[in-house]
Amino acid sequence: MAIDLKTVAEMATAGIAFVANIRIPGGGETVAVPSNSVAEYVADPQGFAAKLFGVTKEQYLLWVEMDGMPQCGATTKNGSRCKNGVSGGSQRSIEEWLRLESDYCAVHGGEGSNSR
Ligand SMILES: [Zn+2]
Repeated sequence: MAIDLKTVAEMATAGIAFVANIRIPGGGETVAVPSNSVAEYVADPQGFAAKLFGVTKEQYLLWVEMDGMPQCGATTKNGSRCKNGVSGGSQRSIEEWLRLESDYCAVHGGEGSNSR
């Protein structure tokens, strides 16, 4: 659907604000969509959300998909990635999730283990 930018601009001038519900781990979050970003939002809501968080769309989608749970980056004996949850639980903020993603689970020397 093409956005009628003139209508959007007139609505904004009349004091109508635009909000959207974007997906985050654990549910949704209501965010303001500036009138000059309405078309951008409609074209790519996930891309808009990623930009809002200052991350790539891939990072944003993975964060939501993983429910904010960072995954262990250790390589297991059979050569695949461990992917156990990093100690501390899910639904982390995206900053924290990015910082801890590929850290280690308790089995692989992360927080909660005795080996470091
Ligand atoms: Zn692990």
